[in-house]
Amino acid sequence: MSRQQPQPLADCFPEIERRIRAREAVSLFLDFDGTLTPLVGDPAEARLDAAVQRAIDRLSRKRNLNVTVISGRSLHDLHARIGLPYVIYAGNHGFEIKGPGLRFMQPIAGALRPELQDLCSRLAVSLSSIPGAKVENKVLTASVHYRQADPADVAQIEEVILASVKQNAARFRVSLGHQVFEILPVAGWNKGAAVNWIHDQLGGPTPITIYLGDDSTDEAAFRMLTGSITVKVGPLDPTSARYHSPGPAQVREFLLWLESIAFARAKAATR
Ligand SMILES: [Mg+2]
Repeated sequence: MSRQQPQPLADCFPEIERRIRAREAVSLFLDFDGTLTPLVGDPAEARLDAAVQRAIDRLSRKRNLNVTVISGRSLHDLHARIGLPYVIYAGNHGFEIKGPGLRFMQPIAGALRPELQDLCSRLAVSLSSIPGAKVENKVLTASVHYRQADPADVAQIEEVILASVKQNAARFRVSLGHQVFEILPVAGWNKGAAVNWIHDQLGGPTPITIYLGDDSTDEAAFRMLTGSITVKVGPLDPTSARYHSPGPAQVREFLLWLESIAFARAKAATR
């Protein structure tokens, strides 16, 4: 597939504003780690900036503007970190979704919960001799974190994971994230499918979709969202996104700008 070089997001605010104003509704998707918050050594330490949180809250309360935070974290973890009432949460890479009037669990992933638990238990035993390798069972998907492992051990960690998942190759697959191996159910589902599901539920005018993410699993959404405002955050790796932003500091600027244009007119149109 041919890919165009993405445009620097910061240079394209006027064009993006024109595209937003041409539509009646906006659907904003935000990844969490590496997009809204800087990647930190211990994922438990990731905290949302107060101004970003406020901007997301205000945007999510606006009529015809929906905000979804979409992440590899579990729904519970994501909700605990953001805690805003009008935001839609898509956890476990979109395998579970919760928001005002919305509730979804991808059925194949749901049925595979016991097998994922077994896989995680076996992996925890196999990896127990490697310091810094940490298995996290997120119920519908799992992560093996290695940020705190010796870089010399990463190849061995990968080998152990691939060998375990290979025994269940029809049911699970491995995806490489930032200092993490993600174990995902084979379910014909991804973040792009989650975006479609959310839009089908919301109804109303067809929105202009804005999607910002830094993960390899965000690429499925970028590929599906042709004609949308897709933004690859972080290092400029090959991407199907249309725009590029260097990191969470620039995402913060974008969100504050988006808030300013969303509230520039029709101040009464909040719910
Ligand atoms: Mg991320």
